[in-house]
Amino acid sequence: KQRVLSGVQPTGNLHLGNYLGAIRNWVEIQSNYDNYFCVVDLHAITVPHNPKTLAHDTYTIAALYLACGIDLQYSTIFVQSHVSAHSELTWLLNCITPLNWLERMIQFKEKAVKQGENVSVGLLDYPVLMAADILLYDADRVPVGEDQKQHLELTRDIAIRVNDKYGSKEKPVLKLPEPLIRQEGARIMSLTDGTSKMSKSDPSDMSRINLLDPPELVEKKIKRCKTDPIKGLTFDDPERPECNNLLTLYTILSGKTKQEVAVECRDMGWGQFKLLLAEVTIEVLRPIQDKYKEIMDNRDYLDSILREGRQKAEAVANKTLERVKNALGYLPPL
Ligand code: ATP
Ligand code: MG
Repeated sequence: KQRVLSGVQPTGNLHLGNYLGAIRNWVEIQSNYDNYFCVVDLHAITVPHNPKTLAHDTYTIAALYLACGIDLQYSTIFVQSHVSAHSELTWLLNCITPLNWLERMIQFKEKAVKQGENVSVGLLDYPVLMAADILLYDADRVPVGEDQKQHLELTRDIAIRVNDKYGSKEKPVLKLPEPLIRQEGARIMSLTDGTSKMSKSDPSDMSRINLLDPPELVEKKIKRCKTDPIKGLTFDDPERPECNNLLTLYTILSGKTKQEVAVECRDMGWGQFKLLLAEVTIEVLRPIQDKYKEIMDNRDYLDSILREGRQKAEAVANKTLERVKNALGYLPPL
């Protein structure tokens, strides 16, 4: 089987963007692949973080993977910082990656603006850590949202550079991964601004629907979300990014087709539509929340999954790390 790797940062609660852009796709494809799903906690400290909540947030994300339908029969779940090879390969790749490749990254530019003078070297280096995550597992496919496309291209460029410098055609050092970006849901937008993506790190909680939001809160967020004064609801109008985003959410969450929704909502007012959207959202979230509670109440079970995940991940990652170190000419440990 081909291998899949992906991950989410424990920078906060999972939201509908993470679910529809990434995790839902992991669940759908998992039986066809050998999957590694990681909670990328080393990435979570590239922006200021709270040491009091990091461990709990890490548990939350792992439990949500399971609650969303990740099946241990096909998939391994582990915590990035538990496998030290991620940090080690990052250093090796750092020394091979030109600085200007990183300065070009859109996510760095966007997140750096918000950090002002306090922007860390780690934020600039984020894509190299991500490249290490992927390359360590010889991943064939990386299912992510559209915002990660540029980082995946960089991962490929880094792998090509390593192979050119330290490998041969017959014996490449690293495997080139392919992105797996599903069109539908690849970029869910903020509830308060239809031109920026829904994010865990947006300071306003009203900008996103978290998978663990209780029904009343989901309803409140949808009722207050940004709309426009135009009559009737339509997809794909560049003047109406919020309208397009909300209709897209409704389409995916209701399981209807775009055409069906276009007809159904053509003459609707916002009040009526928002009730409908709140209703389907709550219905999709309910089973996930129930399962989540069950898993979080059984911490020993979750610990055992993460322990086993670490062992499996370590076995694969350490082998790749050794291969890279050999190619770079390191003296093996004596
Ligand atoms: P942060 O703001 O801290 O970067 P995030 O919401 O971007 O958080 P990540 O942990 O960076 O979440 O990303 C996890 C996965 O979710 C990635 O595959 C990413 O592409 C996907 N993703 C994130 N936001 C969206 C979105 N708005 N729409 C679709 N997919 C998304
Ligand atoms: Mg992100």
